[in-house]
Amino acid sequence: MQRRNTPQKREIFEAVQTLRTHPTAEELYTHLKEQGSSIGKATVYRVLHQMAEEGQIRVVRLPEGADHFDFQLKPHYHIICTRCQKVADVFLSEAFAGNDAVSCASDYQVDGYHLVYYGICPNCQQAAEISSGAEINPSNFESKGE
Ligand SMILES: [Zn+2]
Ligand SMILES: [Zn+2]
Repeated sequence: MQRRNTPQKREIFEAVQTLRTHPTAEELYTHLKEQGSSIGKATVYRVLHQMAEEGQIRVVRLPEGADHFDFQLKPHYHIICTRCQKVADVFLSEAFAGNDAVSCASDYQVDGYHLVYYGICPNCQQAAEISSGAEINPSNFESKGE
């Protein structure tokens, strides 16, 4: 059985490829709208989940917030910036806790894993460096006395 690749589906798929930022359905919808697309929000949601089911894209489920969508199908981990919520890819040559190892340790039959790292992205590190000069308040170091 062959599924028809509708023009809408192609449009949404291309948007996921173009954005490359692990967009949420909402972000993709906004992007498409800015591009002059007439695709409705419900269609964007439906098609994204359909493509994820078919394995064309990946759903990145985070502990908080909406699902993100990923064009990158190669196995990889994600790291989230705790300041701006930017999601980046982390490619490691070997899974640090392989399914087999976890299976041995837990007696579960492991079907997969979801691992998310947290950190501060380069942009936010830079922003912190720039503002750190201003944040140092000498009065914090003075004894106010009583
Ligand atoms: Zn950041
Ligand atoms: Zn990713």
